Amino acid sequence: MSNRVVEGRMVTPERLAELVEGEPPLEAESIEDAETACPECGENVISVGYMPSVTEFVTAYKCQECSWSDTDR
Ligand SMILES: [Zn+2]
Repeated sequence: MSNRVVEGRMVTPERLAELVEGEPPLEAESIEDAETACPECGENVISVGYMPSVTEFVTAYKCQECSWSDTDR
């Protein structure tokens, strides 16, 4: 199971990508631990790879506790 708790809510990989991207992705991979700490609050950061369009693959990073997020764009 790759669903994880983010900001107190259980999210799927698709939902996590949507939180960061602002739109639902075409496809999303499993959520993984980014093995880094949030620059804002120091809590755990998770990552998800997704395709916002057929020609693009993006990895998103999202803090599990606060609203911080980033991508590798
Ligand atoms: Zn944070």
